[in-house]
Amino acid sequence: MTVGIMLLTLVRMLLTYGIIHMTVGIMLLTSVRMLLTYGIIHMTLVRMLLTQGIIFMTVGIMLLTLEMNMISLRTANIPKGISPRPWGDEQKKITLLLFKINLNMLKKERYNKVIDYFQEHMPVAETELHYTNPYELLVAVILSAQCTDKRVNLLTPAIFERYPKPEDMALATPEEIFELIRSCSYPNNKSKHLVGMAQMLIEDFKGVVPDDIKELQKLPGVGRKTANVIASVVYEKPAMAVDTHVFRVAARIGLTTNSKTPLDTEKQLVKYFPEELLPIAHHWLILHGRYVCIARKPKCTRCGLKAFCRYYEKEVYSEK
Ligand code: SF4
Repeated sequence: MTVGIMLLTLVRMLLTYGIIHMTVGIMLLTSVRMLLTYGIIHMTLVRMLLTQGIIFMTVGIMLLTLEMNMISLRTANIPKGISPRPWGDEQKKITLLLFKINLNMLKKERYNKVIDYFQEHMPVAETELHYTNPYELLVAVILSAQCTDKRVNLLTPAIFERYPKPEDMALATPEEIFELIRSCSYPNNKSKHLVGMAQMLIEDFKGVVPDDIKELQKLPGVGRKTANVIASVVYEKPAMAVDTHVFRVAARIGLTTNSKTPLDTEKQLVKYFPEELLPIAHHWLILHGRYVCIARKPKCTRCGLKAFCRYYEKEVYSEK
């Protein structure tokens, strides 16, 4: 019996011992698993950080190379003793670019307002020169250089009666034409141009006024402005003729910036006016310049464009 009790006690002890070991074993297994998971997470993190580090380093090296190239370019022509200013020029360029983008947006807005105004107040705008066909308009436009449309309209009826077709004018002498246009500006040159123009129309263009701006400019007395007028008025082409009124009014309103030549003005207007509006826009600006925004003293107080006119804002409104 005593031996039996001892054996029972031993078995109990072994059982307890076994249970304790099993529990410790399970705990250790769980810990190992947790550590493994933890290790995998850490490895993933380490990998991500390594990848990011490599990317940042690559970008850093690229930027450094770029900057060094720029510095060497900038310093190439800098005299000794003058230290280069890294990024100075680039900063200026970026600022200028942003300024231009802003200016472009403001300009577009100004154009839209001018278009809205004219479409409402001047839906019909045409040339004030009298003509019945392309040849007559060509004669009238050549005569209108440095001369008022009013005066030209006084002269052309007699010219058209005597020389109704280019064939008739081609046979005339400059002296005969001179007699009809002597009250116009530059009658000497204009009479030679008219005869030369008529002769070239017959010889090179079968008596038909061409619709191409380059071809038109081959004719004596026909410059870019006259060619653009014919192309837009007669053939409804998207051309912008810039005369003294268009040049002045566009600059005053702020449709052009720092324009020094009619060609520069033409390019800026063509860029911003929608193509289909170019022919009428030419007349809007001419008529506005002739009757409201006149050269010597613009009639700003009765002008409907003053709310978005650069000249009014700077010269008139700021003085009040
Ligand atoms: S406000 Fe004056 S300057 Fe401006 S478009 Fe009118 S008339 Fe010309």
